[in-house]
Amino acid sequence: MNQKLFNITDEQEMLVETIRDITEKEFKPNSSELEQSGEFPFHNMKILGDLGILGISIPEEYGGSDGTVMDAVLILEEIAKGCYITGMAVLGEIGVQSKAIVAYGSEEQKQKYLPGIAKGETILAICITESEVGSDAGNMKTNSTLEGNSYIVNGTKQLISRADVADLFLVFTRFEGEQGSQGVGCLLVEKGTPGLHVRQGYQTMGGEYLWEVEFDNCAVPIDNVLVRENGFKKLMTAFNTQRCLNASITLGLAEGAFNEALKYTKEREQFGRPVANFQGIQWMLSDMYVEIEASKSLLYRAAINAGKGFPDKIEASVAKLYTNEMAIRVTNQAMQLHGGYGYTKEYPVERMVRGARFGALGGGTSQIQKNLIGRHLLKTDKIF
Ligand SMILES: Cc1cc2nc3c(=O)[nH]c(=O)nc-3n(C[C@H](O)[C@H](O)[C@H](O)COP(=O)(O)OP(=O)(O)OC[C@H]3O[C@@H](n4cnc5c(N)ncnc54)[C@H](O)[C@@H]3O)c2cc1C
Repeated sequence: MNQKLFNITDEQEMLVETIRDITEKEFKPNSSELEQSGEFPFHNMKILGDLGILGISIPEEYGGSDGTVMDAVLILEEIAKGCYITGMAVLGEIGVQSKAIVAYGSEEQKQKYLPGIAKGETILAICITESEVGSDAGNMKTNSTLEGNSYIVNGTKQLISRADVADLFLVFTRFEGEQGSQGVGCLLVEKGTPGLHVRQGYQTMGGEYLWEVEFDNCAVPIDNVLVRENGFKKLMTAFNTQRCLNASITLGLAEGAFNEALKYTKEREQFGRPVANFQGIQWMLSDMYVEIEASKSLLYRAAINAGKGFPDKIEASVAKLYTNEMAIRVTNQAMQLHGGYGYTKEYPVERMVRGARFGALGGGTSQIQKNLIGRHLLKTDKIF
């Protein structure tokens, strides 16, 4: 496809080539094992850390490579074509977590944490969801109260990615029991802080584990406040990055599944000819291809417009909604095109179907994106 439409630069083309090469040689061959074990892909992260990829969202002065949101989208799209688990691990480093520290962190926090994140030595977790509070995140119960020079955090978070290996937790909390979303901000909590407990992991359909994280009178130094005033609003603005990057993983999975289906249908013969020769199969492939291209346009638009900042809320929601739902449809169609073999673990398409399912759930469900878009539409009488 002619990527020039999106003003993909020569540097970005080289970046994509590099990631494609590593994904094919290093990540794809072990992706099935990683998904079965659910282990964090330390080896793959070391390769990407050494190449400077994990610092793409971090300015050079803090050891990063100072890239754009589009660079991050391209990286995740390419990795997800070959290995969902590695894509999810990279998302944790180059997504909302590091972007929020860059945008809102104090100079001291940036110097302390960003260089380690850029090298892949500091693994990040973000703790928003609670047992009673998911989509309605502004209503969270976790609370932090000032005592001396520390905030005492109490609460329990659920479904937290990478909590078992994280070195630094971005913990969304309300402060001093202040009600409503305006009472919510974020603390940086280091691994090993007394009162921080990680327990009860659930293995997901995609392979990775999600954890419960409890804060039991956990004392966090006041210097570790990342955002307090207007905290929820600022954090949700940063979260628009996550919406785009979540979508880029599902885009990559859809593309990976499409590639597999194209290859398979050209090789598989029934009724004396490759099944790809049947018009019904070509129509399925055409529909899948058009849907992927449409997603790419929406996602690349949101990412390119963001530059090095945060994506626009509506552009990000539109891209996330369409891409996540598209990936569910396209990976399923790719399985269908493999016949019964597509349902076995012998072919990668089966794990792509499972991986793609996460997108419409994590980082704000499809229904929540529709709510956001709907509210935007009602603000005006004429959109087009
Ligand atoms: C792979 C994965 C990784 C995750 N990692 C993290 C993480 O690292 N950190 C973290 O904090 N969380 C994480 N989560 C949790 C995720 O953010 C939540 O699952 C998500 O926000 C939805 O919350 P919930 O599961 O409580 O669903 P609920 O909010 O309980 O929703 C249940 C259903 O109701 C719908 N719904 C809710 N409200 C509305 C409404 N107003 N209008 C219409 N429909 C509505 C939802 O769309 C959904 O279909 C992860 C989830 C997944 C799947």
